[in-house]
Amino acid sequence: MAASFSVSFLQFGLIGYPVEHSLSPILHRAALQEFGLRGDYTLFPVAPNDNSGLKHLLAQMRQGEIHGLNVTIPYKQRIIPLLDEITTTAQAIGAVNTIAQQGGRLIGYNTDAEGFWADLQTFGMDTPGTALVLGAGGAARAVVFALQQQGWEIWVAARRIEQAQELLTQLAPQGRSLHLSALEKEDLSSVRLIVNATPAGMPPHSDHSPWPARAAFPPQAKVYDLIYNPRETKWMQAARTAGLPVRNGLGMLVEQAARAFEIWTGFRPSRPKLLKALAEQAGSV
Ligand code: NAP
Repeated sequence: MAASFSVSFLQFGLIGYPVEHSLSPILHRAALQEFGLRGDYTLFPVAPNDNSGLKHLLAQMRQGEIHGLNVTIPYKQRIIPLLDEITTTAQAIGAVNTIAQQGGRLIGYNTDAEGFWADLQTFGMDTPGTALVLGAGGAARAVVFALQQQGWEIWVAARRIEQAQELLTQLAPQGRSLHLSALEKEDLSSVRLIVNATPAGMPPHSDHSPWPARAAFPPQAKVYDLIYNPRETKWMQAARTAGLPVRNGLGMLVEQAARAFEIWTGFRPSRPKLLKALAEQAGSV
């Protein structure tokens, strides 16, 4: 879907709280520059419970003053009733991370699932097997949706097992729910991919790991942490020390941003250029 290029300046942005540490401005400004488009990507912090702030931004979008929005915590679910339409993927996942405007109507997308899957393929995981997903929140839903679509067997481990069960009932009814704290008692030898979809390991919990101290890593598994700040979490370090291939969430971040940009403009940004922009402007990647 291409944006109307009768506008001479494209205004994109991110709604969430907090948003000040977001890397999205670097990515979208690099994409604008790649295609010679005039525009900017602005952070729009909307304090929790500031519904009028949220509605004001959406009204600006309907009026064509804002041409594309990303959505992050805590609004990925709460934004849905305020939109006119959401894609079947966003509906299934139950979360929107990208909004586009078409003829005054606001359409919600979820590019996290596709972003995760695209990056996972570059991690050499193209044949299905058993995946163990840690956590059962919004990002876990996108990961489970993507893996399930590709024929993977899904296990979800959460500290509240009822949250894992609910996720599986909605997205992967054949899957298994596990207690995160009791993983060391499980036979994990068939697991080929472990995905951390919890915030354990990122600030202010950088010294935390989602993985129970006594649980052994399945020897054939690869480890994917959705966290990208820090570039290597405590859990990734432990997995690498145990000899497992590890990957952080930076590639997924780039992929979900590139897909959002394509929805807004019709242009497909170069992934290496986006990664280069991050390396130059956000430290070593
Ligand atoms: P969320 O909706 O709040 O869900 C977090 C999940 O993790 C919940 O199941 C939560 O359980 C669990 N959890 C929280 N702290 C935990 C801990 N210390 N130990 C074990 N489980 C814990 O958050 P989200 O949106 O899914 O995001 C999760 C992570 O993914 C974040 O680090 C986020 O930055 C990352 N992410 C990365 C990308 C990317 O592009 N790379 C995209 C999206 C998200 P409770 O409900 O019991 O707290």
